[in-house]
Amino acid sequence: MKIIVLKFGGTSVGTTDRIKKVVKIIAKYKKKYNVIVLSSAMSGVTNNLINLSKKISKNFSDSEYDVLVSSGEQMSCALISGELINQGLNSRSWISWQIPINTEGKYKFSRINKINKSKILSYLKQGGIPIITGFQGINNKNRITTIGRGGTDASAIMFAKFFNAEKCIIYTDVDGVYSTDPNKLKSAKKIKVISYEEMLEMASLGAKVMQPHSIQDARLNRVDIEVRSSFTDNEGTLITKRKNIINSKIITGISNTTNDAKVTLLGVRDKPGIAASIFKPLSENSINVDMVVQNISPNGKETDLTFTIKSDDLNKTKKIILQNKKINFRNFIFDKNVSKVSIIGVGMVTTPGVTYRMFQSLAKQKINIQVISTSEIKVSVLIDKKNVQKAISALHKEFNLNK
Ligand code: ASP
Ligand code: MG
Repeated sequence: MKIIVLKFGGTSVGTTDRIKKVVKIIAKYKKKYNVIVLSSAMSGVTNNLINLSKKISKNFSDSEYDVLVSSGEQMSCALISGELINQGLNSRSWISWQIPINTEGKYKFSRINKINKSKILSYLKQGGIPIITGFQGINNKNRITTIGRGGTDASAIMFAKFFNAEKCIIYTDVDGVYSTDPNKLKSAKKIKVISYEEMLEMASLGAKVMQPHSIQDARLNRVDIEVRSSFTDNEGTLITKRKNIINSKIITGISNTTNDAKVTLLGVRDKPGIAASIFKPLSENSINVDMVVQNISPNGKETDLTFTIKSDDLNKTKKIILQNKKINFRNFIFDKNVSKVSIIGVGMVTTPGVTYRMFQSLAKQKINIQVISTSEIKVSVLIDKKNVQKAISALHKEFNLNK
């Protein structure tokens, strides 16, 4: 029998009633598969535990932090398992050290590097349903570790990888990935299949659904993921490799950022090494520069340089630029009222004219494009924040995402 990994997020196990619903879902899969379950803590529990550590001291020990905050998962796993037993099924909970799940790296931010399969395999053979704590592992000192907030996604993906599962199903409180934020555009449609690459590019939408680094893990390990809701029976979204997708749409989704800032240096000396001198101290201060444009200088002496950063980094960036003795410029302007709107789709690799259609449909709405950047499967434009809704709605229509 094939193995399937089911992951339940905090809201899916948030109350005892919801846990009963989860148990029904598990029982349904058990009829067809060997089921491995990974569970998060009940929603709010991890936060409460973190608050307790803060309350007791400002610099609470990292190793004890991991013992403390990982305990929420033990609780939810026992509740799920107990209810499965109650329903006449064969189940037990497993804590990371009992398997064990090995991790490497620092406390709070460890990574799973090995999962011991033997005990779980023989338990599956006996018809058991293992309910396993997400988010935690042990290190080579036999101490409990955790793998970062929201880490149960990553735990589930690693189980799917090590056990060669047919699929990893992530149960959460949204019923899939949409062509754009359905709270902002009514005509947004659920995406049936999306590639890892597209999903990563749609981070601003995807982040609410799954952590980007878990998607990256799934991509590297070729694990198919289905995202769906434990509250409805609606079909979810399948995240898989490009090869598996026969797509009729050129564009899969549209996303936008909400916290970008634009910085422009006017009258920068136009000579080799200037861009490097501007960006070096930014990178040394971990400031992530996103879009960049440099104008051709009309007289060969001076040019204007525009780039975007996260608005949170704006003050730091201003300071760094003003203190930078290696560069000269005439003026320095910045703008927080900008947003990056991106169209994403593997279909654009083989379809010419996508960029033109995007610009044309923004022009029809009289929306000014300030900066442009492109990658193989994405075209992004920086526009005035106040035009974001108009832009998304126009592009959604232009690329037939309403249907
Ligand atoms: N309970 C942990 C957290 O809240 C892990 C998880 O939910 O995946 O971050
Ligand atoms: Mg959680």
